[in-house]
Amino acid sequence: MRSPSGAVFVFGSINADTSYRMPSLPVPGETVIARSAQASPGGKGANQAIAAAAAGASTRMIGAVGTDVEAAGILEALSARGIDTSTIDRRPAVATGRAVVCVDDAGENLIVVLPGANREVDGQTAATGLATITRHDVLVLQNEVPAAANRAAAQLARAAGATVIWNAAPAPATAADLVRDIDLLVVNEHELTQLGRLLGLPSGDDLLALLSATARALNTAAICTLGADGAVFDADGQSGRVPALRVRAVDTTAAGDTVVGYLAAHAALPMAERLLLASAAGALTVTRSGASSSIPALHDVERMLDTPTERTPA
Ligand code: ADP
Repeated sequence: MRSPSGAVFVFGSINADTSYRMPSLPVPGETVIARSAQASPGGKGANQAIAAAAAGASTRMIGAVGTDVEAAGILEALSARGIDTSTIDRRPAVATGRAVVCVDDAGENLIVVLPGANREVDGQTAATGLATITRHDVLVLQNEVPAAANRAAAQLARAAGATVIWNAAPAPATAADLVRDIDLLVVNEHELTQLGRLLGLPSGDDLLALLSATARALNTAAICTLGADGAVFDADGQSGRVPALRVRAVDTTAAGDTVVGYLAAHAALPMAERLLLASAAGALTVTRSGASSSIPALHDVERMLDTPTERTPA
């Protein structure tokens, strides 16, 4: 069994998600009766922490929640998955971040997000949460907390010699939102295009060329995930493509977060092997419905990789 090296510190967003299933999505002014509701931890940060823990890493979540009932539920759910939540700030007088997800029978969705306490994450949150990070560890960042907080976290981790992974999702709006002290950039196609625009890079049809130019501009290794087409990478002077495993996709939510968590947990593996493992985890995620609840455990991912007949479930 592949085993992770250092600990994974995830710095980012934490939401209380509630997903409602319904025959059709409401139009303005309409009330729709939902068939079921399911509560789960969400936010890209929490999802990636869940993925890193599922991948076998000792994982710590750094961020902020309120003191409301949603906060208690999330802390309990993350702890139950083995994640250290002692560095999650509990802020009075602010709501825990929330997402209301409506999904209809055709799989279409409609999502409302309240950032709440995620907006309050700052340099102090980073300093407290990263006080014990070492050069053996990995810091993971996304784009759902203020960019200034992300930059502070990256600098602190770098100063300690840790490895920094930035999942630039959602795509940054301005060049001021770029995080430059990073070792690995992870984006999807849309985010890569937007980063290229912000960096003033020439656009074209060659995605791998754009990825390599972006990696050079930010002085980092880089990966672009391409859904059912797998992923391309530029790392350690090598570039290439890793195909996706062929699966029957049911719900692609959290596939990207799963890939990032697995990449962080297995940072010591050579890039091609690491990305193959992470892509298999992403592929398994899309065969299950739900967000954080669909993130697979390492033994299931390894079984899928080791059993060719399981690569194309009926
Ligand atoms: P995001 O959700 O961030 O846009 P992607 O859709 O690119 O991320 O998915 C991330 C990864 O998950 C892909 O690189 C791939 O490994 C895996 N994946 C996603 N969709 C599929 C699919 N339909 N079949 C197989 N693997 C998939």
